Amino acid sequence: MNLESSRQALITTLKRDGISSQAVLEAIAETPRERFMPETVRNKAYENIALPIGDGQTISQPYIVALMTQALELTGREKVLEIGTGSGYQAAILAQLCREVVTIERIANLSRHAQVVLDSLGYDNIEYHVADGTLGYPDAGPYDGILVTATAPKLPQALCEQLTLGGRMVIPLGEEKVQELKLITRGTEGLRVKKLCNVRFVPLIGEQGWDDGESPGE
Ligand code: SAM
Repeated sequence: MNLESSRQALITTLKRDGISSQAVLEAIAETPRERFMPETVRNKAYENIALPIGDGQTISQPYIVALMTQALELTGREKVLEIGTGSGYQAAILAQLCREVVTIERIANLSRHAQVVLDSLGYDNIEYHVADGTLGYPDAGPYDGILVTATAPKLPQALCEQLTLGGRMVIPLGEEKVQELKLITRGTEGLRVKKLCNVRFVPLIGEQGWDDGESPGE
């Protein structure tokens, strides 16, 4: 199967598994996932699995990327903060569905590489930072959506404070064996928390996340 037909097969799989947002499915269908990974694993680009991207990190499973993006319910007008740039793939999906993406990565090498790939694909609505994303990025906030692509031990307070009223945050919380993907909505009466599903992510390392060394492995 060539890359184009395997990309179409992935869309069929995502629909079958319950992804219903046409906009999210179209963004995934438009995005060359193979460009965001090392050549050695490109033959698996359209398998519905996480893959290694170097520096001990991963590009997330397409189903999880789709589910997290769908949960933000983007209309095209939002400013979205992503924590964990990684390969840049999730940022590419978000950038097609909202006004502006601010993405933070703690590993400079990954951030640089993601920016090169995204620039070469023509994305011009993404701002990149190398920093501890558990603290968010208040200078560019508040955000209508926050998407965290690594698991935190508990909800980082700084991120909650940078969410607009009505804003939505998707974040995996928990430890090595029990991680739950949560949707947090900020309303007038505070934060509402809904569980989406069980997940397995790399750890969110930082001041309001895990200490380097004590964190759960993936
Ligand atoms: N969104 C990525 C993609 O599309 O490829 C997947 C990211 S990977 C599952 C999680 C990323 O979070 C890793 O690149 C890791 O270095 C990063 N990370 C972990 N803790 C972080 C922190 N405190 N601030 C920013 N990035 C962090």
